[in-house]
Amino acid sequence: MKEGLLQLLKLQEVDKKLFELEEAKEKYPAEIALRRSEIAEARSVLAALEAQSAEFEKQQRHCEREIESGKATLSEREGRFAVVTTNKEYDSLQLEIEICKKAIAEHETQSLKAIENLERIEEKIAEAQGAFEEVRAAEQERIDELEGQLSTMQEQIDEVVASRRVVAKGIEDIDTQLLRTYESKKGRHGIRVAAVHREACGACYYQMPAQILNEVRIGGHVIFCESCGTIMVWDDQS
Ligand SMILES: [Zn+2]
Repeated sequence: MKEGLLQLLKLQEVDKKLFELEEAKEKYPAEIALRRSEIAEARSVLAALEAQSAEFEKQQRHCEREIESGKATLSEREGRFAVVTTNKEYDSLQLEIEICKKAIAEHETQSLKAIENLERIEEKIAEAQGAFEEVRAAEQERIDELEGQLSTMQEQIDEVVASRRVVAKGIEDIDTQLLRTYESKKGRHGIRVAAVHREACGACYYQMPAQILNEVRIGGHVIFCESCGTIMVWDDQS
């Protein structure tokens, strides 16, 4: 019985590894997706700022064109002073010129505002660019690592399953019932057997009564932790 129990600890080690691999195989794809979305999020912040910047540039160019055509109109109107013949024509021309100058001034104000906005947004773009690069570098490094792990995951699982077969067979040869007891347990986080450590259950740290500790040490029959139900084993470190 005692040797079988010690072998169970070895089987538990193999199962723990298997449990972790299966868990990783299940969780990594979600983690990769989450990290990709973090990159996409940082990228979209940058893209939104760049779109704003393009919009301000467009406004600025529009204003420049309006100023240019406004100035051409103005000089054409001013040239007409030489040919006006009546006061009425003169007044009307004067008015047209005032309107024209006002329009130019307005577009100049708008153009300056667009330039200011552009300068401000360029600063924000530089910041967002830096943040994006940082996020991308960090997330991508972890994504590559996870993808690398996933690419060999099945291979790793197959290897562990093969070694598990050997260990399980060894226990079956000694004590079939003991292996069955182990296999039938669900175990918390895949832990079905644990060695006693400092007079406590190695799985849940429940302090065990002296009488039970003694029985575990003797190893005459299977003893479960009173608190978590894990199979208790006394090993060299117990
Ligand atoms: Zn326990």
